[in-house]
Amino acid sequence: MRGNCWPKLLNSFKKARTLIPIATFTTTAANSPKISSMDDSPLKTRICIIGSGPAAHTAAIYAARAELKPILFEGWMANDIAPGGQLTTTTDVENFPGFPDGIMGSDLMERCRSQSIRFGTKIFTETVNKVDFTKTPFKVFTDDRTVLADAVVIATGAVAKRLEFPGSGDGNNGFWNKGISACAVCDGAAPIFRNKELAVIGGGDSAMEEANFLTKYGSKVYIIHRRGEFRASKIMQNRALSNPKIEVIWNSSVLEAYGEKVLGGLKVKNVVTGEVSDLKVSGLFFAIGHEPATKFLEKQLELDGDGYVVTKPGTTLTSVKGVFAAGDVQDKKYRQAVTAAGSGCMAALDAEHYLQEIGAQEGKSD
Ligand code: FAD
Ligand code: NDP
Repeated sequence: MRGNCWPKLLNSFKKARTLIPIATFTTTAANSPKISSMDDSPLKTRICIIGSGPAAHTAAIYAARAELKPILFEGWMANDIAPGGQLTTTTDVENFPGFPDGIMGSDLMERCRSQSIRFGTKIFTETVNKVDFTKTPFKVFTDDRTVLADAVVIATGAVAKRLEFPGSGDGNNGFWNKGISACAVCDGAAPIFRNKELAVIGGGDSAMEEANFLTKYGSKVYIIHRRGEFRASKIMQNRALSNPKIEVIWNSSVLEAYGEKVLGGLKVKNVVTGEVSDLKVSGLFFAIGHEPATKFLEKQLELDGDGYVVTKPGTTLTSVKGVFAAGDVQDKKYRQAVTAAGSGCMAALDAEHYLQEIGAQEGKSD
């Protein structure tokens, strides 16, 4: 389970940064973090990458090695997540190939970032708040600058939705990371969940999948759902309902989480009868959906009903030629670091082919 201090440190930097509003943190291949002054003239690049998780950095590594001189916007606490993305909110990552002993999520992302920089990626610690994909070169805007790009990779990820009730928060306020999680695949194997009773909140495919997954570790898994029927696909429902280790608590919501150092149980209310019961569980997993980070796109790309960027199956091509999407921002199914990295590689290769096709060779955008 996690609980690293990097996001907290960055939050302190963020507060400090409000004191120097026209400055921006800039990191290039040649220098370490420094403060540079605001620049009004647009920068030009063949490829601009937006995001800072495994997808963005893999795209940057490939694009930089192809000598496309990428510009990458890593965000500044975009969606309340530190540069580096979702993995900065976890501790050990044990399923990323190449690290047999596991690696801290923020260390892994630091390494990815260094690798991007090593091959010449120019990184700006700024959040993209607007884009203009109506004509080429595409325009990418932050508070501090505008970039003109022949190709763009969107890799802004997604954020797992969390519920708020007494005991659900971080730090001293609750059991987040101390029994409460939003990723069973990531955290389910942790020793604190082994052979313990666990609970999942939700009624969609994620809840079914996570509950089934958790039965590998827990002695029993409750699915707590606010209604009397699931919205999950029939096949996923059947798989969960026929699993002898899973029990459904219908028409119910969690009122409170309690415990000592780690989660010890939940107060659960039946929303039909009003009855409140005590459920002794050592783990609680939110599976109530994710929110993709696509608001800044302002409908300039085709999004699905849940706000994910739509890509052509088997590629990273979006509805706008020259704009590519990789990672969790276009993937509601797998949502893993290694799949995000894989699609980041695909995006860079797709972009490289596109740039060759339109003849945006070395020098055109410099
Ligand atoms: P993200 O990691 O989501 O990063 C995108 C980042 O881009 C954002 O966080 C933000 O910093 C930046 N950004 C967003 N909007 C903007 C903007 N407008 N402008 C500039 N920058 C922006 N997966 C595993 O494989 N193994 C694990 O053990 C594991 N553990 C996890 C633990 C937790 C707690 C969580 C939440 C997830 C975990 N995952 C794990 C899932 C994994 O983190 C994600 O699948 C992966 O990080 C997705 O990568 P991504 O590149 O799509 O984007
Ligand atoms: P969904 O939006 O499909 O389901 C979210 C669930 O959480 C719903 O049952 C919803 O309840 C419940 N919920 C939402 N908000 C709250 C709340 N505030 N309190 C309590 N419960 C809440 O999200 P998923 O992540 O499950 O799935 C997203 C998409 O990804 C879907 O298209 C799904 O098919 C796909 N997916 C596919 C998988 C696969 O094929 N293997 C695996 C995982 C996801 P209610 O039903 O009452 O609205």
